Order: sequence, then structure tokens, then C-alpha cells
Amino acid sequence: MKSTIKEIVLKNGLRVFLEHLPYAEKCAIRVGINVGYRDEPPQIFGVTHILEHFFFKSSEFREMLEIFADLEINGIKPHGGTEDSTTEFWVTCLPKFLPEVIEIFFEVIGSFDYDEEEFEKEKNGVVTEIRNEEDKPDVSQVDKVLVPATFGNTVLNRQICGTPESVGKITKDDMINFKKQYYQPINIVIIVSGNFSERKTIKTIENTFGKLEGNFKNTREPIVKILGRKRWTVKRKEGINQVYLTVGAPILKFNQLTDEEIAVLYLWCALLCGGRSTRLTYRLCHKEVDTYENVSADLNNWGEVGLAYVGVEGFDPARFSKMLKAIFEEIRSLNSKLVRKRDMEIAKALFLSDYKDELWNLDFRTEEILKFVFGYVAYDFQNIVKVIEKLNSRRFKNIINRLISPSRSKWTVSVLAPPNIKLEKI
Ligand SMILES: [Zn+2]
Repeated sequence: MKSTIKEIVLKNGLRVFLEHLPYAEKCAIRVGINVGYRDEPPQIFGVTHILEHFFFKSSEFREMLEIFADLEINGIKPHGGTEDSTTEFWVTCLPKFLPEVIEIFFEVIGSFDYDEEEFEKEKNGVVTEIRNEEDKPDVSQVDKVLVPATFGNTVLNRQICGTPESVGKITKDDMINFKKQYYQPINIVIIVSGNFSERKTIKTIENTFGKLEGNFKNTREPIVKILGRKRWTVKRKEGINQVYLTVGAPILKFNQLTDEEIAVLYLWCALLCGGRSTRLTYRLCHKEVDTYENVSADLNNWGEVGLAYVGVEGFDPARFSKMLKAIFEEIRSLNSKLVRKRDMEIAKALFLSDYKDELWNLDFRTEEILKFVFGYVAYDFQNIVKVIEKLNSRRFKNIINRLISPSRSKWTVSVLAPPNIKLEKI
């Protein structure tokens, strides 16, 4: 991709991507491992996520408290995440602390033993996390209702974290064996963006990560197929009074979309819900219904497939059919009518204002580079601003009709509702 990003491949196959930005005050480093929850055998569902929780736990190198104190004394806060095909961790720091961060990050990857007591405690922590997620209707709506309904019979139908039962059964040895199998240099990439000494960084990485051995390469069959998609799914939940509604349509081959196609999808979201004057927000929040603010349009991406969705978090069940009708009318009108010039300008301005802030965010940059390196996307995140500025309404309409179907039958409606409340289907 971008000529500004330098790729270095270590002798053991580990890949390093360096983006030097001399104007930045700090730098960001992200380590990505090409393994995610879709690689888990069924008897240890949730193991990838537990491993993520163990990134900064006591190892043969340092005690947990020491790891955190050694980072936090320099103001560095570590983060970790698990996806369908990747596991990653990242921080931002001042350039002078980068070599020490690299050493700690190497220990995270290179550790193959853990404390038994910490293991049992952390497993309980993971179960608590799963249960807390279940209690939050707004958070669980897309991941737990819409996605399984849209991608039934695929790996996306499963929870990233596993279930309390599956997590409860995982042993420390299961976790370590899984780590040994997948945490090998050829599956690992390191991305650094911002201000840092290139020479020192490469040297530190070679002296640490360069020591890793093994040559097992994780490959997978494409398993995400659109199978068993439901048009309707209603989940009933005790203890809530409001309805949560999300409608979504799958986007095939998301990882092959061009810069322009991605730009169109971003604009689609902004045209619907980018601000208070954009069509769906205005219609739902000010014109037809009462004021509430939780209307959003967004994209999800798993590489082989993506999802475009519109959601309204929490509203009076009596307004259900009106709400649904309004959403589909606005979606359809973006496919059938040319967007007015002024609306297009507003959507572009809203999107670009946020996106330009993101480009200054070093975490965002390393995340985008990782998505590209691991094949989740094909677009160049640095090119999006230019492409959006050039788009006109006619071009938008042509492309959106290729990417998103206006036909109701291609969409999945997912609802989280209180028990015993009648919902009128349209
Ligand atoms: Zn977690």
C-alpha cells in the first residue's frame, strides 16, 4: 500500500511495518497475531479471548503488578482486543519509551507459562464480562441479535468471548497449548506509527521478537458464507421497557472494496445519521417522533463479509412500525433518488471532520494498517479524504446500488423487546 510505510521482514518471518511521522509528539505500537475466535476448536470456545486477558499477567519475565507499574510510570496504558481472525494489543507512548515497550510486548508474546491462581481468577473475570455484556441491551443488540440473524450457520453466529460454560472448562494447559500453536513469528506483525527512532526500533525488535522460533502458518478455509439468513428476529428480554431496533444488510467481499466503494459506504452512513440535520436523524428525532438521540448508521467488517446497519437504541414500543417504515423509506430513497447537492455537502463535511481527527490518532493509523496487512480491507485509509471530496451524487447513486440493496428482502430486521409486547411487522 502506502509508499510512506516501510515493511521489514525479520529472518524468522515476523513482519514489521513502520510509518514515520516526524510531526507527531508520540508513537503508537500495535502487535497483531493472525489468530481469532474462528480458529478455536469447539471444546475450548473462548480461549483466544482468555489469552488476550493474559497478555499483561505475570509471566516468567515479570510479575503482573510490575508490568503495569513499569508501563504506567511512563503514562502508558495497555489495551488488547480479540476479533474473528485476529488478536492484538497496543499502546501509545513517548518515543523514548518505545524500546522498553517493545521488550514488554515481546515478553507478552514469548511467555508460555502463567500463574495458576491468576488463571482461575481471570477466568471468573471473563465470565463476569460475558454476563455484563448480556445485561446491556444497547451493546448486545448488533453483536448478539443482528449479526447472528444475518450470518446464521457461520462462525459469526458465535460469541467472541465464548459462553460461561465453555470458558469454565478451559484449563491453563489448553490455553498455553493454543498459544504455542498459533503465536509463531510468521503469524505476527508489529506496526509502529508516529515519531520514533527507526534504527533503534528495528534493532530492539530484532533483539527481542527476532528470537522467536517456529514456522507454523495459520491458514483458513473461507467459512463465512451467507447461509440461513433470517429476515426477522425478535429477542425478548425481561427487565427492559423499551424496544431496540437494528436493520442490517450484508456486504459481500468487503475485503475487496475499492477506496471509492468504501468512501460511498461511509457517506451512506453520514447521509442517514451523520448529524442532526441528516435525513434519518432529523426525521426520527425531530419530525415524526420525540427527541432522542440514539439513532446511528454504521458498518461492521469481518473481511470476507461486512454489514451495513441502522439502529435505534431504546424507544417506546408503540412507535415500532412507524420507526421501521421511516428507516426503510430513507434507505430506499438513497438508492432511488439523486441526493441533493446540499445534503451531499453536509454528509461529506460531517464525515471528513471526524475522519481528519482520526488521521491524527496514532492508534487509528496502526489499526488501519493492521486491517490492511491481515487482509480485512484493500483500501488505502490515507486516500479516503481525497476520494470523498471528489464524489458526486450521480456516482454515489451508481455505486450504492451495487453495494446495498434497496429490496426489503435483502435486509434483516432485528429487535430486542420486552416480553408480551406486540410488534407489528411491515
Ligand atoms: Zn475481555
